[in-house]
Amino acid sequence: MSPRRVAVVGAGPAGFFTTAAVLAEDPDARVDLIDGLPTPYGLVRYGVAPDHQKIKRVVAAYKRTAASERVRYLGNVLVGADPSVADLLACYDQVVLCVGTPLARDLGIPGESLPGSHAATHFVGWYNGHPDHQGHAFDLSTERAVVVGMGNVAIDVARVLLKGAKLEPTDVARSALEALRHCAVREVVLLGRRGAPQAAFTPTELAELAALEGVDVVVDPAQVELSDEAEGWVQAHADKQTRRNLELLRELATTPPTGGKRLVLALQRSPLAVLGKERVEGVEVAVNRVDYTEDWPCPVDTGARERIDAGLVFRAVGYRGAPLPGVPFDAQRGVFPNEQGRVMGADGPVPRLYVAGWAKRGPQGVIGTNRADAKETALAMAADRDSLPAVERPGLQRPDAVEWKDWERLDAHEVAEGAERGRVREKLLTVEAMLDLLS
Ligand code: NAP
Repeated sequence: MSPRRVAVVGAGPAGFFTTAAVLAEDPDARVDLIDGLPTPYGLVRYGVAPDHQKIKRVVAAYKRTAASERVRYLGNVLVGADPSVADLLACYDQVVLCVGTPLARDLGIPGESLPGSHAATHFVGWYNGHPDHQGHAFDLSTERAVVVGMGNVAIDVARVLLKGAKLEPTDVARSALEALRHCAVREVVLLGRRGAPQAAFTPTELAELAALEGVDVVVDPAQVELSDEAEGWVQAHADKQTRRNLELLRELATTPPTGGKRLVLALQRSPLAVLGKERVEGVEVAVNRVDYTEDWPCPVDTGARERIDAGLVFRAVGYRGAPLPGVPFDAQRGVFPNEQGRVMGADGPVPRLYVAGWAKRGPQGVIGTNRADAKETALAMAADRDSLPAVERPGLQRPDAVEWKDWERLDAHEVAEGAERGRVREKLLTVEAMLDLLS
């Protein structure tokens, strides 16, 4: 029997963990790891913040996976129209979608599309040098920015705005660094629609912000004094992370300000409208109370209104997936419907088609969460192996694809260019520049 030939679509964390898990489950399997960009690593390269280099060390494991003679990297091959998923199913025994959730969720409020109002996803892609996001322009000449959301992406955006040119030694995109040198933002307001116990950020990220030199994290003491019902909810439902967040927030509420830049936590506040005529001038917010009668405490509008003057608004309210032609898609959740990683159509599993990572379970969890998730999908694939049709599958033939050794050249070039300037790396910002270097 010929070896099982697998296509993994997307060379981010989910793609690499899935590749490793498929290889581990089946000593004969061959994997083609396909990415739409010449560069591998997905969110590790284009999502993880430039001042979080330690997190990026996970690529050491990905390099070991890519070094296997059973793995072939095909970069700069965008799966969608050509090749389609159907094309891949014709030339592979099994296809796994590890394409993440690339789109930003919207707020659906008036004024959201005014100049100066942005999806955090675009800002993150821009400062991380993602080629698809280099066309965005961010006017950083305002003193106050509002970030909607209380997750780690919101914290990343706030930290980057407040650090500005201090990011120079990192691998932040050169274009973003030049803009950040002139960043006038002195205050970032983080809008959370629910209360302190429902903050989605992790304590490490909050502590990092609090430790930033020249930045005060401003927490209103009233917002960390919990009502009896809120305290009851914490006792019944809060995990270690939430308890640590609360401890930190209480500490911050009593920390005297130093007079530096400010990160203001505005809890129980929902944006109602982005205000402005030609561009963003502020945000109208509703003041909420939190209803604890359900397991998921809900924000409830009290009817009170506030206005926050600001020249920039970022919505960091989560990502959602993008559909692929011919693949069942759950538009509500923004994921490919699946059972243990088997993509599900109206009549049951779509033969030989699988999913892993954020495209499978939604945009939650840290990079390491994808390891167990990938293993689950790889186990489902291994269990289905005996029912595969006995057909010889040749794999995708793309002589123009970027190979792993090409990426290694690109990588070495970026690192060397960065080293000359005392930086981690100098990223190439367009696909054209990458292909020019390789030609
Ligand atoms: P997230 O953790 O799901 O946070 C989204 C935030 O947006 C929540 O505070 C949510 O509040 C809020 N939100 C959603 N809809 C809203 C609305 N209509 N109005 C107001 N607020 C709204 O998502 P994320 O920040 O995009 O992060 C995605 C994943 O990546 C997370 O697992 C995160 O931990 C991870 N990540 C990790 C790091 C790191 O480890 N350093 C960095 C970046 C991202 P509710 O809770 O009220 O819905």
